[in-house]
Amino acid sequence: MDPALPPTDSAAIRRRNLGLVLRHIADHGPCARTEVAAATGLAHGSVTALVADLTDRGLLREDDALRSGTRGRPGRPLRLAPERAVVAAIQITSEQLRVAVCDLAGAVVGRETVPHELAPGAPEDMADLVAAVVTRIGDTAADDLGRGPVLARVVVAMAGPVRDDAAQTVVVAPDFGWMRPVGLRELITDRLPDSAVAVDVVNDANAAALAEFHALKRDSRGLVLIEAGTGIGGGVVLDGRIHTGSHGIAGEPGHVPVAMDGPDCVCGARGCLVCYAGPEAVFATAGLADLLHDKGLQAAQASLLTLLAAGDARATAAIDTAAQALSAAILSITALLDADEVVLGGLLADWFPWLAPVVDARLTGRRALAPGLDLRITPSALGADGIVVGALGFARRAILSDPSAVPPLPAATRS
Ligand SMILES: [Zn+2]
Repeated sequence: MDPALPPTDSAAIRRRNLGLVLRHIADHGPCARTEVAAATGLAHGSVTALVADLTDRGLLREDDALRSGTRGRPGRPLRLAPERAVVAAIQITSEQLRVAVCDLAGAVVGRETVPHELAPGAPEDMADLVAAVVTRIGDTAADDLGRGPVLARVVVAMAGPVRDDAAQTVVVAPDFGWMRPVGLRELITDRLPDSAVAVDVVNDANAAALAEFHALKRDSRGLVLIEAGTGIGGGVVLDGRIHTGSHGIAGEPGHVPVAMDGPDCVCGARGCLVCYAGPEAVFATAGLADLLHDKGLQAAQASLLTLLAAGDARATAAIDTAAQALSAAILSITALLDADEVVLGGLLADWFPWLAPVVDARLTGRRALAPGLDLRITPSALGADGIVVGALGFARRAILSDPSAVPPLPAATRS
């Protein structure tokens, strides 16, 4: 230990090194200590001590010695013990909580939906509900001997910008009637027993964007998710991380202006993407405004898809307008961010076969000017499940990066 470092820093360094070792073994295991040392740049003695710590926590196990043809003591390969801890994702909607639990290998071990009828504008009531669900998941996971699995992390995803600071403040959430900043993380944590699981709060579309990024089976540095649901939302992932911006409101493609003289938008600007490609605009142009109002989004969407398939002129014109606006927004966004993937989600994924040719044509000029520009536009791979999948991934990577959240196994139960 470097005596010049304050104790908190050396503890932080040890936590980081535990994470380096565990992440490498989780991603590349089974592997020997020498391989871990070479890959992480840590000294062999440090790796041995860190592996012992992780084994005490029940997060690693040793395979039988490899039968190798070479001389010398064979290495005992290490692998992740994924069943030692679970993480949970809780997506809050105005009607229900969507809950999923997975182990450290990402295998989903439980799912449920918890309906609620909470009145809008009462974040304390929402915190009560979430805390009760978290407590129940923790109690269900644990066994009496303390061998686990322990509930190691919970990520709550909801609509509304979330500041990327220690408090993870929800800036505003009109869908829930929260018109002032809400410290949801603190509200939930205050309702959990001492030393209970760490909770994170993230924006739902950001979680979905991260999930789409990890679902890509190719190298990509930047991804922009644009999805239409009740409005148009989205998220930005740069170099593998969610980009939340200075105020937590980055990744709102719905309010990228696409027309200087367009209609006034609720956001205070004019001619935003949502004014042309948002569900209300598209269904109105397609002649389905009454259906949307009377029967809801799903009925209007089903009708629109039928009309599009039949080549209906108004439906086709509505999607064409949406596609022109979407193209302008994509050109603006990618000019600024140089992202190489644009994923269209929600209603936009269903409209993709009609949107894609128009968007492709509008991008031709930019592509001709920069032949190396490799910009792919694809429909969402994960659909509505992306939010929960993204939140689970966020939670799982948090534990693999900082395994100190998982306590040592009780001495009597260690093998
Ligand atoms: Zn706007």
